[in-house]
Amino acid sequence: MTERYDLHCHSMASDGSLTPTELISRAKEMGVTSLALTDHDTINGQQEAKVAARDHGINFIPGIEISTTWENKCFHIVGLNINPKHDELTHGIEKLQTLRAERAKTIAQKLEKKSISSSYEAVIKAAKGGMVTRAHFASYLLAQNYVSTQQEAFDRYLGKGKPAFVSTIWADLHDTINWINRAGGVAVVAHPLRYKMTASWMRRFLSFFKEAGGQGLEVVTGRSNPDEIRRTLNYAKQYDLAASVGSDFHTPDNPWVELGRLAPLPKNITAIWELF
Ligand code: AMP
Ligand code: MN
Ligand code: MN
Ligand code: MN
Repeated sequence: MTERYDLHCHSMASDGSLTPTELISRAKEMGVTSLALTDHDTINGQQEAKVAARDHGINFIPGIEISTTWENKCFHIVGLNINPKHDELTHGIEKLQTLRAERAKTIAQKLEKKSISSSYEAVIKAAKGGMVTRAHFASYLLAQNYVSTQQEAFDRYLGKGKPAFVSTIWADLHDTINWINRAGGVAVVAHPLRYKMTASWMRRFLSFFKEAGGQGLEVVTGRSNPDEIRRTLNYAKQYDLAASVGSDFHTPDNPWVELGRLAPLPKNITAIWELF
């Protein structure tokens, strides 16, 4: 059987639209053989996903995607093969969960000022006890016809510098890498080309990340083209980081991103799962 890895995706525990069980079923249908569930700042979907994966014969890798701040910029760090119950990790993310809850109120207040009412109640309801993210606000704006796409919600209201943007200081990058490492996992930079960094910022960031104990870089993501894979692969080699692959799947409603639908990992690099 051919192995098919997908090491980055979301469930309803954060901003995904499927329950962990539905996510695992879909992964099975898509021929995924090893899956990591990596919800934003929470491990709440892990237990259910692990059980469903066992039932479906999928190799389940416990994971998380942690929101961090480094030099005033936000970076997402994926932790793979973690013990999701490790004390230091669970305490660390508790703070982020509080931050998210507070931020949601502030985003809603800012939207009120733009005459958009009731968003707080709507996102709390939609999140069903999971992490509230800007994706929930984007869905509300879309459902209420304030915008015609999710992207437009970010471009007009939720993105950096837009009226409902709330500047947030997430977890410290170095602390985050420590939590992941101490929980027995490996820290991976999520979607490295999505931060719109110049080459010199990328070099500074990756040097810091490596120095701090980070071990991986997402070389293949759900929407990577061959040129992007080549560039990311070069960074991985340059900084001696292992390569990860992850779709960043959130919902079956997005036809551009599917579980397990990923370009093959180039052969001449250490795969992140060799470190598990
Ligand atoms: P947050 O972590 O609460 O700031 O929310 C970020 C989430 O919103 C990401 O994980 C994506 O799922 C989604 N997102 C961010 N930027 C965009 C965008 N430009 N278009 C659509 N979704 C986005
Ligand atoms: Mn997301
Ligand atoms: Mn992300
Ligand atoms: Mn993600």
